[in-house]
Amino acid sequence: MIRFNVLTLFPELIQPHLEFLPFKRAVEKNAAGYKLWNLRSYARDKRGTIDDKPYGGGTGMLLMPEPIYDALSDIHGEPPENVIKRDGVRVVLLSPRGKRYDQKYAEELSKASEITLICGRYEGVDARIEENYVTDVISIGDYVISGGEVPALIILESITRLLPQVIEKEDAITKESFSEGNIEHPQYTRPETFKGKKVPDVLLSGNHKEIEKWKKENSPLA
Ligand code: SAM
Repeated sequence: MIRFNVLTLFPELIQPHLEFLPFKRAVEKNAAGYKLWNLRSYARDKRGTIDDKPYGGGTGMLLMPEPIYDALSDIHGEPPENVIKRDGVRVVLLSPRGKRYDQKYAEELSKASEITLICGRYEGVDARIEENYVTDVISIGDYVISGGEVPALIILESITRLLPQVIEKEDAITKESFSEGNIEHPQYTRPETFKGKKVPDVLLSGNHKEIEKWKKENSPLA
């Protein structure tokens, strides 16, 4: 059982996804649990302030370190500086500055017992969080989007698919793109001919050896 925590200003962006597969099955099968934590409730003032201007100038606002520190302490029940030393616990900051996420990284994270994802917003997060209280900084690609919620969902979903019993047919995972260093071959379903375009003959031949050969030849290296 892997426990996921997501720290975000917008839990309502994430919650609806958790009601669908693969998350729904992961919960049913006791393979994973998901908890959303609202960063706003860790503001230290009554106005709910969680952001401030960057030192040295620059446009936009940054998420302040105190609310994130307090939330991490609450999530894990101990100071964040201790949490990152615990075996099996990963505390992840989503950031374009991070290490590029891929299937191998998902497989590595799927072995953790608890993963906490910190979603940035605005211009990002005070750098002292990244420098002192996380085990991983992850980027989903070389582009910038408005918040860490979609990146967090990508990470949640890619890991959840790898958990035992979540995808019912084991093959669906082990033969999927990137799992064996290749991209999956093209696949076709009915009808045999669609707008004059026919399914490759070999796939209709019933010759399993030839079909496997064709699949291999059409699965390029990732
Ligand atoms: N000022 C930052 C920069 O130029 O790198 C961009 C901040 S972005 C508008 C706000 C938040 O979205 C980030 O703190 C991060 O959590 C998330 N985010 C945006 N793009 C991302 C990416 N490619 N990978 C992971 N997180 C991303």
